[in-house]
Amino acid sequence: MKEDYYKILGVDRNTQPEEIKKSYRRLALRYHPDKNPGDNEAEEKFKEAAEAYEVLSDSEKRQIYDRYGHEGLRGTGFQGFSGFEDIFSSFGDIFEDIFGFTGGRRTGTVPRSGADFRYDLKISFMDAAFGTTTEIEVEKFQGCSGCGGTGAAPGSEPVVCPECNGRGQVTRATGFFSISTTCSRCGGAGSVIENPCKACRGSGKEKVTKSVQLRIPAGVETGSRLRLSGEGGDGEFGGPPGDLYVFIYVDSHEFFEREGNDIICKIPISMTQAALGASIEVPTLNGNEKIKVPNGTQNGKLFRLKGKGITHLRGFGRGDQIVQTVIEIPTNLNGGEKKLLREFAKMRGEL
Ligand SMILES: [Zn+2]
Ligand SMILES: [Zn+2]
Repeated sequence: MKEDYYKILGVDRNTQPEEIKKSYRRLALRYHPDKNPGDNEAEEKFKEAAEAYEVLSDSEKRQIYDRYGHEGLRGTGFQGFSGFEDIFSSFGDIFEDIFGFTGGRRTGTVPRSGADFRYDLKISFMDAAFGTTTEIEVEKFQGCSGCGGTGAAPGSEPVVCPECNGRGQVTRATGFFSISTTCSRCGGAGSVIENPCKACRGSGKEKVTKSVQLRIPAGVETGSRLRLSGEGGDGEFGGPPGDLYVFIYVDSHEFFEREGNDIICKIPISMTQAALGASIEVPTLNGNEKIKVPNGTQNGKLFRLKGKGITHLRGFGRGDQIVQTVIEIPTNLNGGEKKLLREFAKMRGEL
């Protein structure tokens, strides 16, 4: 059951709008989140008061509420507020009265961590298998070289903010309370720029391309993500920098395919090698190697080369290489060869 809006604001039913506003300001001040950090009860009261004020300060909504109560408002689509930001953006002018600037929340000097960056990197099959070190170029903002990051034009300097005398905070006495808020003139910095640097337009920052050394461990695969701590965007007001996330895409290889940490390759062998057995050369990640194919080898037979696959990204050892035979039937037999094969077929009773 919702509390009566008049009761929440502590006014009676025929109170004038001016009184309602006053009453709301009083409550908003008492339960303001900056004054009650982490206090859930105050937060609820703050939201409750905002909702009551939203309704009672609007003559149309107030009339509906007077007649039909909470039910009546539901029919108008009124939903109250989702959160503080909502409240501040709706009643910015009131908070400006009370707290000295729109929004009423301290924003300037709270440390904020920098943004995380994403970088997509394509690497070769071999680099993924063995790991590599590479350099990538990342765009980021850093202190403007024109003004040394101050934002003031060369030859000038930021001056002490006349509004807060460099404290970054202004203190106001309101009734019993004295409230400190971020100075609206300097945004909490304590200084203002009268003659902004042309290169950065006073922001003190410039976009630069930075080279970042990246060590790619052996065994990464498409979808692997490397995190470079602190290589993201710069933090603000002393907050830590963000991270850089490198997303790996591994290129395909002309004859190796990858399945987890195993690699698979198809090796063509001739009909006679398959029938008689042979020693054949196969490519591996570490160069060519001879394997023995026994006589009577069928098409598609798998041979496993232990430990010749991809290094495990986490853990020890390597996967295997799997060699699959593909028996090639000759298509360009000359007369003598045909004759021999016919004889062979006759001996086998196949002709
Ligand atoms: Zn500059
Ligand atoms: Zn200031």
